Amino acid sequence: MKINNYHKVNTLDEAYALLTSDKSSSIIAGGAWLKFSKKTIENAIDLSNLNLDQIVETKEAFEIGCMTTLRQVEVNKSLMTFCNGVITKSINEIMGVQIRNIATIGGTVSGKYGFSDLITPLLVLDTKLQFYKNGIITLEEFLNSKDFKNDILVKIIISKKIGKAKFISMKKTSNDFSVINTAVFKNKEECKIAVGARPNGALLAIKAMEFLDNNKTYSEEVINECASIASKEIPFGSNIRGSKEYRIELCRVLIKRGLQEVLK
Ligand SMILES: Cc1cc2nc3c(=O)[nH]c(=O)nc-3n(C[C@H](O)[C@H](O)[C@H](O)COP(=O)(O)OP(=O)(O)OC[C@H]3O[C@@H](n4cnc5c(N)ncnc54)[C@H](O)[C@@H]3O)c2cc1C
Repeated sequence: MKINNYHKVNTLDEAYALLTSDKSSSIIAGGAWLKFSKKTIENAIDLSNLNLDQIVETKEAFEIGCMTTLRQVEVNKSLMTFCNGVITKSINEIMGVQIRNIATIGGTVSGKYGFSDLITPLLVLDTKLQFYKNGIITLEEFLNSKDFKNDILVKIIISKKIGKAKFISMKKTSNDFSVINTAVFKNKEECKIAVGARPNGALLAIKAMEFLDNNKTYSEEVINECASIASKEIPFGSNIRGSKEYRIELCRVLIKRGLQEVLK
């Protein structure tokens, strides 16, 4: 990565003007992932003066500024108990504390990384994103769209819905990327199931979710069938971490374990 001009901005207006002034301008958050890039950045835009590294807890939600580090999120006491600590659990498996002290939640979500361990649980929670120009949209809408490249992610808003959740990932070694990761959420109203690191980005297993919603009791057979539906409906691929076939099998097993946990 080569940076021609480094700007520590004082307002989001200033950041947006710089971002849209040149195609090779880029927001720089922790810079942990960007530094691997070979590109030349005309304007690197640093948001660290803007007080966007806070977690604000209201009655309804957690509002997490884009520059909040993964470590800040991981050690937040309220998040440790929210939905069985599903967010905390997904983060504390990412590399070591040194990386988590640098990488931010804004850089993680904006990057839409296929390997992301955090996006998967965020997808089963009610997660909304506040952009500077486009306002508030759902995480799902963002993941399915290519329209937000020239906008600034300001906040990640997680509604405090009550329910049980479970994140499970399969890593060959603790510092590697996940071969696959899964998250499930259940309360009286709904069930949500997401699968990430397929190796592409996280998706909701809609048919499996509907199947579970249509069942009143959660027997072993129902759980097995739900996990099997998820493993068949989610598209998987192969890479150096695992084959498509291996991921299909892991998906079935991890979703089953997740459901057993949240349906207890
Ligand atoms: C060695 C290493 C190993 C890793 N292993 C894992 C792993 O196992 N699992 C996992 O889930 N993650 C892993 N990660 C990824 C990490 O968790 C972060 O997701 C990643 O580093 C991006 O965060 P950042 O703050 O460094 O973003 P940056 O690198 O600064 O930025 C990433 C991208 O997001 C854009 N961006 C940043 N902030 C904003 C914003 N506010 N608005 C709009 N665009 C923005 C940038 O322009 C850039 O394109 C790893 C990272 C590293 C460096």
